[in-house]
Amino acid sequence: MAFPTATRYLIVGAGIHGLSTAWHLAEELRRAGRGSGQDILVVDKSGIAAGASGIACGVIRNNYFQPAMRKLMAHSVSVWESDPQAFSYHPVGYMQISPEVMHEQVATIAAQQKEIGYESIFVEGEKDSKSYMRSLFEDWQAQGITSVLHEKKGGYANNQASIRGLARKAESAGVRILGGVRVTGFVKDNRGAVKTVTTDQGDIACECVIVGTGPWIKQIWDMLGLPAAITIKGRDGKLHENVPMWTFWSLQEGTLGVDPKLQRTNDGSMPPVLHVDTDATLYSDIDRSLITDRLWGIYYKPDFHFGGVQGGAMPFKVKADPAQVKIDPYGPASPDFVVGEDFARMWCSALAFCQKRFEGKHPQFKREPSGGIGSFTADNFPVFDRFCDNVYVIADSNHGYKMIGVGALVAGEICGRQSELLQPFRFSRFAEGKLHPTSNSPFPWS
Ligand SMILES: Cc1cc2nc3c(=O)[nH]c(=O)nc-3n(C[C@H](O)[C@H](O)[C@H](O)COP(=O)(O)OP(=O)(O)OC[C@H]3O[C@@H](n4cnc5c(N)ncnc54)[C@H](O)[C@@H]3O)c2cc1C
Repeated sequence: MAFPTATRYLIVGAGIHGLSTAWHLAEELRRAGRGSGQDILVVDKSGIAAGASGIACGVIRNNYFQPAMRKLMAHSVSVWESDPQAFSYHPVGYMQISPEVMHEQVATIAAQQKEIGYESIFVEGEKDSKSYMRSLFEDWQAQGITSVLHEKKGGYANNQASIRGLARKAESAGVRILGGVRVTGFVKDNRGAVKTVTTDQGDIACECVIVGTGPWIKQIWDMLGLPAAITIKGRDGKLHENVPMWTFWSLQEGTLGVDPKLQRTNDGSMPPVLHVDTDATLYSDIDRSLITDRLWGIYYKPDFHFGGVQGGAMPFKVKADPAQVKIDPYGPASPDFVVGEDFARMWCSALAFCQKRFEGKHPQFKREPSGGIGSFTADNFPVFDRFCDNVYVIADSNHGYKMIGVGALVAGEICGRQSELLQPFRFSRFAEGKLHPTSNSPFPWS
């Protein structure tokens, strides 16, 4: 097929957001009698699932301290549930296991989950938390835990398989997906709207652009002429000037090469995804040396796709100037942003801290490149908004593999139906001081 020179809707990025938007937009246009998938072109500089969506751990949860995030995640979980097979979705549930410093905040999450009808069990107190955990895993031994939030929905999905499932849905709705096409710039009309997208394969005229470029968002943001630094009105009402719009965090993930069935529950079922935060001192499982005496956290799940028990720990902020950070080659191919022996030592010791079955398993950690970087906004929460009149930016601040439903809401907004769920994620929140509450969790994404 010839390279297209025009399309009504041009979507940049074939990850979770680009493809979910493509599929839902195609359905919206058809239902409204306003067009079809043939009006939509997705371009990607590499191909389907080449970015963060293709390497994500794949955890899907509701547990967020921010009410707006929780509502949005509940909507996305319903999209995952709409076709578990196509999305390679495993609805095993999710557990947030926390220390006293997080107890009160997690209690508010549990209360609000009840309000929005998101099924969960909340266990409080050290003794009850331990016996609840032991009713699932008889070898549970984590210290410093005083609450357990057990979400009955959510779980995880297989990264590449789910994105390919989405691509199939978009393509069967008539959408064209073109790999090997890198967007290099935007030509605007005299109103400031984008009329042509320039790529390394040729120019494409379009009526509307949708950007879902994950870790590469800063490059597109700069091409659109949007600000590299912004002013934020803080909670104290003061203006904080010159705050970088984008920062990078390095995600720390890996796999313990054991039989995934090792992590079955007492009754032989596949377990929920576990997320454990604690302020108990962590010592090495190898030589008992101190690893940390500060608040720390890990998450893990058995995963046949990764070939073991896979998960991660707290990410770290990339210190380099965001303009200088080398995103490519991305993910496991990066020479800079893959996990090292420090991560293996910490994560494997933390697994052993939580469950006896992982003691002495550190040598089985898979010494293969893993992890990757994510692009975060100035307040670490997503920006879903329109810019330059006809450009819709989906910048999930690295929260987003689980957010498969955002594409449905964005497609609705493009067709003129404003989404209440997306309102709290507008760019104007920074200047207006309408910031999301922050939690005591050691993770920037909770
Ligand atoms: C190691 C790791 C683990 C994670 N685990 C989880 C998790 O368990 N749960 C969760 O919810 N989230 C997780 N995330 C976050 C999640 O993966 C991302 O938030 C999400 O996948 C971003 O999706 P996206 O569609 O915006 O971008 P991506 O999936 O990154 O897709 C962007 C695409 O844009 C293309 N592109 C970039 N620039 C251009 C250009 N100039 N021209 C054309 N194409 C371009 C890229 O090739 C890429 O394919 C994780 C992230 C990482 C890095």
